Amino acid sequence: MTVRVAVVGAAGRMGATVCRAVLDARDLELVAAIDISKDGRPLDYAGGFPDSALVISGELESAVRAHADVLVDFTVAEAAVKTLRFGAANGIHVVCGTTGIETADFVSEFEPADRPNAIICPNFAISAVLMTRLAEIAAPYFENAEIIELHHDQKRDAPSGTALESARRIAEVRRRSGAGDFGADPTERVVLPGARGARAEANVFVHSVRLRGLVAHQEIIFGALGQSLTIRQDSYDRTSFMPGVLLAIDRVASTPGLTVGLDRLLGA
Ligand code: NAD
Repeated sequence: MTVRVAVVGAAGRMGATVCRAVLDARDLELVAAIDISKDGRPLDYAGGFPDSALVISGELESAVRAHADVLVDFTVAEAAVKTLRFGAANGIHVVCGTTGIETADFVSEFEPADRPNAIICPNFAISAVLMTRLAEIAAPYFENAEIIELHHDQKRDAPSGTALESARRIAEVRRRSGAGDFGADPTERVVLPGARGARAEANVFVHSVRLRGLVAHQEIIFGALGQSLTIRQDSYDRTSFMPGVLLAIDRVASTPGLTVGLDRLLGA
């Protein structure tokens, strides 16, 4: 059966990449391209979509008019919240990759017993899923942990959703294993404010780097007496996220309620 897909944020970097992936996928049909910034312009306004006659719409309602089965959102946090609520209210499944949203707010909106469902993933790259999983294995055995996330210079939120999720899961493992918080920060004088980054749960420190030329990268560094372990993940291109996005589109109708994280789909 062909799944009808509407992409919100279709004129953005990720949204356009998703539109291309959906158009190239068998069993998927791109039925609506939604973006407030290019309302009324052809999807092919800048080239790259000669095989689509879709016109970009600024309204979520165009997904209803196009009988979309799934809304895919790559926008900004405030817009993604609207997309999730719109999907829940209109019986359209939602796959959300936008970062910076409070996922717990949506548990009740996507009750397992009712259609529709939602999948929210702060990172759709398999290498990122494995990075976090490997960090969970390492977490109980070290004395300190610091996360450095590195992204392109247009990213709107900091730290990244992936960094927050990594810190949360490392802290959870520390709690469960009885290892407790990592060592307290010994810094007594911060000469330049922010030099030590942000302190997340369990004393995991998070640093955000923004540089032109980067896409999405992260290092998790664990330290112990006389040794360290660095787990690094790199997404060099936005196509790295597409297998995960397509998997979520494929699974969302059969995955009841709200699912957070690609690992839940992969069983990782
Ligand atoms: P971008 O700025 O290139 O694109 C965002 C698009 O959303 C823009 O075209 C903008 O006009 C549109 N938009 C904003 N508000 C809107 C609204 N109310 N309705 C419709 N469209 C609206 O950003 P990007 O680099 O494509 O990133 C988008 C999001 O995806 C960010 O939150 C980013 O962190 C996240 N991201 C997630 C993953 C992942 O794997 N989950 C990977 C990369 C980026």
